[in-house]
Amino acid sequence: MKWGLIGASTIASEHMIGAIRAQSGHTVEAVLSSNAERGQAFAARNAILHVFTDLEALLAQPGIDAVYISTTNEKHFPQAMAAIAAGKHVLCEKPLALRVEDAAAMIEAAREAGVVFATNHHLRCSGAHLAIRRLIAEGRIGRILSMRVFHAVSLPEHLRGWRIDDAAAGGGVIADITVHDADTVRFHLGEDPKTVVAQAVSSGLGQGVEDSVMSVWTMPSGVMVQSHESFTHPFAGSGIEVHGTKGSVFARNVMTQNPSGIITLTDKDGTLQLNYERHELYGYGLQAFNSAVTGHGAPAADGVDGLKSLAVALAVARSAREGRAVDVDYKGY
Ligand code: NDP
Repeated sequence: MKWGLIGASTIASEHMIGAIRAQSGHTVEAVLSSNAERGQAFAARNAILHVFTDLEALLAQPGIDAVYISTTNEKHFPQAMAAIAAGKHVLCEKPLALRVEDAAAMIEAAREAGVVFATNHHLRCSGAHLAIRRLIAEGRIGRILSMRVFHAVSLPEHLRGWRIDDAAAGGGVIADITVHDADTVRFHLGEDPKTVVAQAVSSGLGQGVEDSVMSVWTMPSGVMVQSHESFTHPFAGSGIEVHGTKGSVFARNVMTQNPSGIITLTDKDGTLQLNYERHELYGYGLQAFNSAVTGHGAPAADGVDGLKSLAVALAVARSAREGRAVDVDYKGY
């Protein structure tokens, strides 16, 4: 499969180009940048032959089967719609769009065009999360009572651009990290948050956008979820805890891009550390995407998953803004 990259981004160069090239028979043919000089430099650094500044020209490049969209968040919607209209399979970064209606339009357009449309939610591809999900499914922790997600990191210096000062580009920690946590919670619990209550602040890093948020989500089953995302915490580490009637799972440093972290299960017999498969996350997601393109199975996170994580994030943002509980609006999905 031949790929076109829409966006000369950090995530593409740090993770996705390598992950695409690690798939047998997959090549990166072209990259789109809004800036010719940046595009050329990116292409040279990453050994990509073709560089475009015009999306239609990239989409018209012969032989491109799929695109990976990793531009700033406000561009995902129009770029995905154009790629779908050109008959390309689309792997799109989160958040899929800035509005749930736009994510819905992307899903419907892909459905009508018969192309695969997926969201790059990497955490559900992690061996750690797959292992936690298995524990839950096997009933090892009993009936789930609550879940705690802590994903407060220190935003690396080289990412302190639009994320911390550009609301129009979809900046802020909610669009950046809460979407991932929403997807991870949905992945583990198999249900969608119903109502959220949140508070957000700009605690020094964010300028005009929030850099820290805490929220509580009510699930249809009655499970309570507590979630914390931040750009300003150098030493907090990340993790997830799942507490049930028969046991508790404590997973440290598992909300990451790498196959790292330690998972323990505590129950009446004591505490046990779990072994799990530590594969590369983005490659695992690409394998599922590639299988879906060839008609086998579904992407790890499809368009509806991306719509739902966006809907939760927007409800969290609204709750923080308006100081009240907000029902998540999935627009019928
Ligand atoms: P970057 O800031 O690295 O890139 C985003 C865009 O910014 C690029 O498309 C590029 O535009 C522009 N850009 C890059 N460098 C510069 C520069 N020096 N000056 C001005 N503009 C520049 O973003 P990320 O790679 O961190 O994130 C991109 C997308 O991927 C986001 O939607 C984010 O949410 C998502 N993401 C997802 C992750 C995941 O694990 N699923 C992890 C990290 C990010 P142009 O293309 O026009 O050159």
